[in-house]
Amino acid sequence: MRDENCIFCKIANGDIPAATIYEDERFRVILDLGPASKGHALILPKDHFADLFSLDGEISSRVLALAAKIGEAMKKSLGCAGVNLVQNNGEAAGQTVFHFHMHVIPRYEGGPRMVSWEPGSPSGEELAELAGRIKKELE
Ligand code: AMP
Ligand code: ZN
Repeated sequence: MRDENCIFCKIANGDIPAATIYEDERFRVILDLGPASKGHALILPKDHFADLFSLDGEISSRVLALAAKIGEAMKKSLGCAGVNLVQNNGEAAGQTVFHFHMHVIPRYEGGPRMVSWEPGSPSGEELAELAGRIKKELE
């Protein structure tokens, strides 16, 4: 399942070169060309899925374990103190390449602030109302 017009399909399957740090039957992991920090990597499934919502069960069940493996290797090899996993779905969420990918972003002691937000302060009623709406959809 590849999309001929998708750049990440081409990269994941080796048709376009990239700095690969890991490869197996289902995934290629590459370094991001516009890194948020030194060593920023992208986990790409070799099959095409536009986003989280169209991902198949096999890939979704493996991707987190792979992210942990990559993160561990980054801590040992690059000396980062932690990692952020970022995974954007939809233009409104900042997705720019519509082939599912998971960012693994090394974070260094004293590094810049990133992947952060100003916390809101919803009332208890607001939280309850929101929780009720989402919960209803999940029933
Ligand atoms: P997103 O905004 O979550 O869709 O992330 C897309 C990411 O892909 C960005 O961080 C880009 O820097 C990165 N990117 C786009 N094209 C390439 C490429 N050819 N090789 C490596 N990274 C890329
Ligand atoms: Zn693709």
